[in-house]
Amino acid sequence: MDDCVFCRIVAEEVPADIVARGSLTRAFRDTNPQAPVHVLVVPVEHVADVTEVGAQHGELLAEMVTTAHQVAAREGVAEGGYRLVLNVGDDAGNTVPHLHLHVLGGRRLTWPPG
Ligand code: 5GP
Ligand code: ZN
Repeated sequence: MDDCVFCRIVAEEVPADIVARGSLTRAFRDTNPQAPVHVLVVPVEHVADVTEVGAQHGELLAEMVTTAHQVAAREGVAEGGYRLVLNVGDDAGNTVPHLHLHVLGGRRLTWPPG
């Protein structure tokens, strides 16, 4: 999608600090990090949000989660712990309409989240 910022990052038309490239996913650092490690894992294909996810996305979801764990390990936060977040809809603060898994770590994360 031409007007989707994450599609444009995947296409490398918009610069981003890309930390992992998979066949179905890209991972890049969030420009407004909420923790010392804050990486977004996104599908290469435009999927708006979880309401569009179905059984056909099994391989994609597996790659998103395994990529998130690999990034966490490489960033040195896998052992201490980290958080994976999918914000869905307005009340959760979802702002970019392209599915993205937040990988947050490097500090003690509070629960419940704000
Ligand atoms: P959401 O609130 O939709 O779950 O998360 C969107 C995230 O994307 C936010 O944390 C925001 O900082 C990040 N973001 C928005 N635009 C850009 C961008 O152009 N580049 C990068 N790297 N991150 C972005
Ligand atoms: Zn997109």
